[in-house]
Amino acid sequence: MTGHTKSYDVVIVGGGAAGISVAAGLVKKKSGLNIALVEPSTQHAYQPGWTFVGAGIFDQSQTVRDESTLIPKGVEWVRQSVEEFRADTNCVVLDDGSSLSYRYLVAAPGLRLAWDKVAGLEATLGRNGVTSNYRYDLAPYTWQLVQEMKGGEALFTQPDMPIKCAGAPQKAMYLSCDRWRKAGVLNDINVGFHNAGGVLFGVAAYVPALMDYVKSYQADLRFNQNLIAIDGDKKEATFAVKGQGETVTHETRGFDFIHVCPPQVGHDFAAQSPLANAAGWIDVDQHSLRSTKFDNVLALGDATSTPNAKTAAAVRKQAPVVVDNLIALLEGREPKAAYNGYGACPLTVEIGKIVLAEFEYGGKVKPTFPNFINKGLQATARAWWLKEKLLPTLYYDWMLRGDRTLAKPETLTT
Ligand code: FAD
Repeated sequence: MTGHTKSYDVVIVGGGAAGISVAAGLVKKKSGLNIALVEPSTQHAYQPGWTFVGAGIFDQSQTVRDESTLIPKGVEWVRQSVEEFRADTNCVVLDDGSSLSYRYLVAAPGLRLAWDKVAGLEATLGRNGVTSNYRYDLAPYTWQLVQEMKGGEALFTQPDMPIKCAGAPQKAMYLSCDRWRKAGVLNDINVGFHNAGGVLFGVAAYVPALMDYVKSYQADLRFNQNLIAIDGDKKEATFAVKGQGETVTHETRGFDFIHVCPPQVGHDFAAQSPLANAAGWIDVDQHSLRSTKFDNVLALGDATSTPNAKTAAAVRKQAPVVVDNLIALLEGREPKAAYNGYGACPLTVEIGKIVLAEFEYGGKVKPTFPNFINKGLQATARAWWLKEKLLPTLYYDWMLRGDRTLAKPETLTT
């Protein structure tokens, strides 16, 4: 196939939450387009479900579907990986050496979980009490470990931002603690939350409700502590601890159980491309989601530079913006749709209760679900019901089908 080139009106890179939502929305709103979606995986993951798998609420199988069932009719699925963005010549190069050229590109390849940035971690993941809900195959191991744990040291780690679902590391802690409390063993377990950052949650308004749970589980919160190494056989974790000024010391702690949230970076092919900023994220205007460097490129989801919470909830609001702005460009009009930074995080503070954090750029609290579900800053049983029963449907049957319920774009003001 080397050297072969096919041409499309639109090429979408990535068939995750963002790529599928844009493909579906585009087909729904404009007919006659020649669209290719590049996605190597035959399975599509509903990643927000993995927290529930790790707590024994969902079965692993509830969190994957065949990719083929989600590709909208009228969109050509190219089952390969993109190896290079050649934005100067309007094409992407695939792993078999062939290229796809485009009039417009939508980049949505997500991010890379950088397990390799923690020394020794990859060698011991899934063994020695080392687990992570950030991997489909390991979330059931979290649940196994939680059930087996009867006493000792339980650690939960959070790396530097940005990460996808910034609440997921603490969600794993709360749900594990609640299981241990119900099993009568919590008092025999020392729970530590080691956070590379300096705050429990980025939107301050939600912190008091979360702190109530931290206290009730007697979890030891440690800020400015970044996991840098794990020795699985010795069951030891080493942290770089930032002190006053620029001082950094190393501290090693033994563990019986450790839930690791890995560092997260842009995929190499995207980070090293002309689309990326210096930090390796695809650089877009945070409202129009149009590339700051190439007028015929838009991007969304976890891969971008936008300073919102990297969540599927954000994708739900971003996809219609990308669709409308893309159609405007295809029709020779100015893009007018705007994304306001919406993100949401259902913080599972105990089995059956959630603090549903919803917010926009600047950490502005922005509840969008009806008042009877989201009562603001406190944990409610109805928000749990939303996460368990409604959000998977909202994801698969609305968002991935291009439906705009609860996701109408705003209008650009400049
Ligand atoms: P993804 O869904 O990751 O999709 C990226 C796609 O690009 C993948 O299919 C991948 O195969 C493909 N790809 C990668 N490289 C290439 C390449 N070279 N060529 C072509 N395709 C490529 N969000 C919430 O809203 N609420 C939650 O409660 C929540 N909880 C979470 C809990 C966990 C444990 C995790 C891991 C995530 C959670 N999220 C949550 C975050 C949410 O899942 C992501 O933000 C969302 O999936 C981002 O969508 P995306 O399309 O940008 O990336």
